[in-house]
Amino acid sequence: MKSRKLAVITLVYWFLLLYIVAALVWWFISLEKQNRQMSTYKLQELKLDDVLFEQKFYKIEDERKRKTGQYIGEGVTFLALILIGAVFVYRATRRQLRLSIQQQNFMMAITHELKTPIAITLLNLETLQKRKLEESQQQKLISNTMQEANRLNLLCNNILLASQLDAGAYKLTKTEFNLSEVVDESLADFRSRFPNRTIDNSVAEQVYFVGEELLLQIVVNNLLENALKYTPKDKPILVELSEVNRHICFKVSDNGAGIPDNEKEKIFEKFYRIGNESTRNAKGTGLGLYLCKRIVQDHGGEIFVKHNHPEGSIFTVLFKS
Ligand code: ADP
Repeated sequence: MKSRKLAVITLVYWFLLLYIVAALVWWFISLEKQNRQMSTYKLQELKLDDVLFEQKFYKIEDERKRKTGQYIGEGVTFLALILIGAVFVYRATRRQLRLSIQQQNFMMAITHELKTPIAITLLNLETLQKRKLEESQQQKLISNTMQEANRLNLLCNNILLASQLDAGAYKLTKTEFNLSEVVDESLADFRSRFPNRTIDNSVAEQVYFVGEELLLQIVVNNLLENALKYTPKDKPILVELSEVNRHICFKVSDNGAGIPDNEKEKIFEKFYRIGNESTRNAKGTGLGLYLCKRIVQDHGGEIFVKHNHPEGSIFTVLFKS
């Protein structure tokens, strides 16, 4: 239904544009014809025995050429304005359409993302309440419930922060804190949530950073969450933090599917997710990297992604001071 509507809109757009350009060309041709006709009449009225014949002849010819020049000038200006306007409208409409599709995907994803952890948590709690389980089984259920609650927590933080940032309601409060500790805490948290995954690390000690700790924590968590989410379970991920000449570098490398070159910029856009919502198996909202980029930029840094060898991707956050 949506694609039919889109096809109709595209068709109407191209039809109108072609019509306007054709009308412009037609307008030029008929004006030029009129111009030539006028000068022919004027020439016919000239008398050959007129002493000023030559002078008058050239005057009429000059006037005809001037008018032709004027029509060409006006026509080209009009055409340029119309084409600039058309490109503008085309790009704005496409952007709007892409955002609306992404927003729709976001709503689909978010409903699933919110419902699943709540349903799992309820089920686990009910099981714990109703059945006498062995200690190890109880622990398994509790850690599973905590994992779901953590996921929900990250999701809520992301949504809340995105809406605050968009509304311009977020004010940064920068203080100095130990970034190494933030990364270590996050690593410990992810290792307890995913005990079967291999998370290698090389975290320099005592890396101090001036900024908002909570936001930097969100960046670290989102990048780690993605690396685990988009990498097969049997493959390791690597987390690095280093500081050289006051340049702080945080890197998360994975051996997952990687990101195609033409998507490397787009994945940082709001709601953007690679692929199609119905075929995608990893769930998400498309907010994580958008927030990472905004937070990193608000702290004067940059974030980018490169290919990992032999496969996967490396997300790098750089703060130069
Ligand atoms: P989400 O993970 O919630 O979909 P993000 O903004 O965190 O949203 O990521 C946007 C998209 O970028 C993801 O949907 C995914 O397609 C891609 N992506 C992010 N991180 C990775 C990664 N480490 N490996 C492969 N693809 C990734």
